[in-house]
Amino acid sequence: STRRVLLAQSNVVAPRGRVPLGLRRKPLRVVVTGGAGFVGSHLVDRLMERGDSVIVVDNFFTGRKDNVVHHFGNPRFELIRHDVVEPILLEVDQIYHLACPASPVHYKFNPVKTIKTNVVGTLNMLGLAKRVGARFLLTSTSEVYGDPLQHPQAETYWGNVNPIGVRSCYDEGKRTAETLAMDYHRGLGIEVRIARIFNTYGPRMCIDDGRVVSNFVAQALRKEPLTVYGDGKQTRSFQYVSDLVEGLMRLMEGDHVGPFNLGNPGEFTMLELAEVVQETIDSNAKIEFRPNTEDDPHKRKPDISKAKELLGWEPTISLHKGLPLMVSDFRKRIFGDENSAKT
Ligand code: NAD
Ligand code: UDP
Ligand code: UDP
Repeated sequence: STRRVLLAQSNVVAPRGRVPLGLRRKPLRVVVTGGAGFVGSHLVDRLMERGDSVIVVDNFFTGRKDNVVHHFGNPRFELIRHDVVEPILLEVDQIYHLACPASPVHYKFNPVKTIKTNVVGTLNMLGLAKRVGARFLLTSTSEVYGDPLQHPQAETYWGNVNPIGVRSCYDEGKRTAETLAMDYHRGLGIEVRIARIFNTYGPRMCIDDGRVVSNFVAQALRKEPLTVYGDGKQTRSFQYVSDLVEGLMRLMEGDHVGPFNLGNPGEFTMLELAEVVQETIDSNAKIEFRPNTEDDPHKRKPDISKAKELLGWEPTISLHKGLPLMVSDFRKRIFGDENSAKT
């Protein structure tokens, strides 16, 4: 990567065919809001690897310095503690706008703050994009489809969302964020990109964020029962984080506004997920049923034809392959101290 930076800085034209295209591109100034969070920090790793200058803007509500600490001291990296609900002046080429709690437990904690983050926060980042002529990518969500009446969900589906329910701060917040992005695009010519992300898992997820994959993995490791909400027959489609990051970057670099579904079409009931966790971590793990949460979507599975066709993207990591990659990270973070004391 040193070579990549040198090449980029020294105007040397690399001989044709010898240096991959990626090494010749001009380094960009990129801001990642929510870059200290789960998805954001993995995106930051890829952008740093590519030779870009990265500014992370994060208020640390659910993000952690630990997720980006390995970039501290790199002159191309900057971390700003800032809440996107307040305006900010920056000079950048691209804006990846991720700032927003993603786990239902976190986004329901202070619903009004969640709406402000989605609406005012997105407005501010679009205002920034307008001022400096940057390209803007919004990380929207499969939740814009609500409790879907169409299965699988294609981008053309308008959704089935309860506007006054306990999940609305997030669902309707993201729907408004999409509207804002489209209006800045149509009305003001801002270059925007919209990703609708489906359930994503991987290393660096908050251990106790209440999402199903992090819950089951942490529970199995701690020898606690896996808590299945409702009858466990509701479905979700789980995407490994590196597949998502690849999709986000292709979307940003490509020519299409979207929206694009980014998710893994592999669909599992929560009971099936519990089985995969048992196979991966502890075949003796018990299952405990709990009442389900309000307005829980019954099923969710992306139709990714559009991303396949226009972005040349599809996920490559199945749940069976991805789960073990997350387990080793969780093991380290849960038992870290005891293990290092032993070795
Ligand atoms: P996360 O909670 O790990 O990350 C969100 C980050 O945003 C955190 O670092 C948090 O501190 C920061 N943040 C929250 N509010 C902020 C504010 N007002 N100002 C500045 N920073 C703020 O969640 P994640 O899973 O990494 O999700 C990232 C994005 O992807 C979110 O926009 C989320 O809605 C979207 N998304 C994620 C999933 C998923 O399954 N992980 C699914 C759909 C959409
Ligand atoms: N904004 C920002 N950084 C900028 C430019 C704008 O945070 O570099 C904010 C600005 O404070 C405003 C929002 O983005 O609240 C929308 O800006 P825009 O210029 O589109 O709207 P206006 O300020 O004209 O209402
Ligand atoms: N869920 C579960 N056990 C848990 C946490 C969640 O059975 O410990 C269920 C939840 O009811 C929902 C699904 O898992 O049906 C996915 O929930 P999550 O919070 O991970 O994401 P969502 O897709 O609802 O945003």
